[in-house]
Amino acid sequence: MNATCSSRQGTGRTEAVVAESLVVRAARLAEALEQEVRTFVMAGDQTLGDIELEIEQQSRELLRTAAEKAAQTKADRTPPVCPVCQKPLSQVSTDHRRSFECKFGTITIGRGRGYCKRCRKWRFPADTVLGLEDSAGYSPRVQEMAALLASKMPVGEASAVLEHLTGVQLPPATLDREARRQGKRAQQVRRQADEQACQAKAVQSELVLEPYQMIIQLDAWNIRERDQWGQTGQLRRKGQEPQRWHWVYTGTCFRLDQRGKTAGGRPLISQRGFVATREGMDGLREQLYAEALRRGLGQAAGVLVIGDGALWIWRLADDRFKEARQRLDFYHAVQHLAAVGRALYGEDPAKLQSWLRPLVQQLKNQSAVQVVEKLEDILAHLPGGATAQAVQKEVDYFHEHQDRMDYRAGRRRGEPIGSGAVESTCRQNQCRFKRPGQFWSRAGDEALLCLETFWRNGRWHLLFPHHRRFDPSKN
Ligand SMILES: [Zn+2]
Repeated sequence: MNATCSSRQGTGRTEAVVAESLVVRAARLAEALEQEVRTFVMAGDQTLGDIELEIEQQSRELLRTAAEKAAQTKADRTPPVCPVCQKPLSQVSTDHRRSFECKFGTITIGRGRGYCKRCRKWRFPADTVLGLEDSAGYSPRVQEMAALLASKMPVGEASAVLEHLTGVQLPPATLDREARRQGKRAQQVRRQADEQACQAKAVQSELVLEPYQMIIQLDAWNIRERDQWGQTGQLRRKGQEPQRWHWVYTGTCFRLDQRGKTAGGRPLISQRGFVATREGMDGLREQLYAEALRRGLGQAAGVLVIGDGALWIWRLADDRFKEARQRLDFYHAVQHLAAVGRALYGEDPAKLQSWLRPLVQQLKNQSAVQVVEKLEDILAHLPGGATAQAVQKEVDYFHEHQDRMDYRAGRRRGEPIGSGAVESTCRQNQCRFKRPGQFWSRAGDEALLCLETFWRNGRWHLLFPHHRRFDPSKN
């Protein structure tokens, strides 16, 4: 039972009365606005901003009444049928009141209630039709606002920004709770969408007019959570440290033919899929696979996985993208070359640079084999000791990744040689998730990351269908 429901004695709120009041209110508002316009024109110290705010505030009550009328009328016309099993309800009574926040303020409606014998539950069919959730008093538009703002900024700030820009009042704790609820729902929608993507793969046609390559980039970053909260002292007495830093696995995928350049020469990807998850490697593997399928993996002529050399990246690639070519991020390879340089020349920047530069050029424009040969040659002439050990370590690294260093061929084909696209996504996520906030638990973080990826992937409308025509922000 919903706590906000109470039976109302028949007061006869008819459509005609509400409709009349709407027309009268509109006329009164129009008159008031005419007056405001006159005042505005005469006022020497007011800009358009003043009248914008004035119009907005004065119109709010009319808009609220219109939304209330819409909700009430629709509730009145909703048949007493169970929204879950579609069976007619019994013991039907009307005019159970419920109040909730909508974009324009608080709305109260009366709606019907009935008992479903099959589900053995009391039902309010109008709530389902209107998109109201059982235990939260917010309209779909307000649910959406809470979800979007909480995924972009800390909830305290989100609450203030929301009220400042829209007049909707949601205290931080309430906004936090509502955003979590939406995040949980988003995870469910994602699971269904991912399953659908995998099922659809089986029936996809393989006909493609212009063959393209699918690029996948992987990376991970750390997030701090308050797990084992309050148990720090207890754990330390046992000689343990509480685990608070956890990996967020991140991936991006795009078709090579959808990657162009800006006028300034910066790479620009017009269509890009994102995944970011706290559900470990398994979560990443399945989510990324589904995302890649949605972005055209099934029709790709080839797949290229780029990463920074972390072992998990190649394991995941071997496991889920078996046919894919693998490439080590060029800038990480350069860092390992620089490590050899530092072992040889200490921190003498001039010597280090003059040794490093031609090798970097060779690695980029010629072949990794030549670079490895050069390193082996250097190693052969070292007398042993710490320097030789340091160089040996890097030679081993280059041996391990030699097949992932086809930078010349990659550049000739117009492919990226670095994983900059996913690294910039990680940086953006860290800006939000490494700030103080109220979501710091595994479940909370996953809910929030899920909302964020729906937004980035241009699939916000799947969570909030009233936003079907929404054009997601370009990434
Ligand atoms: Zn039912």
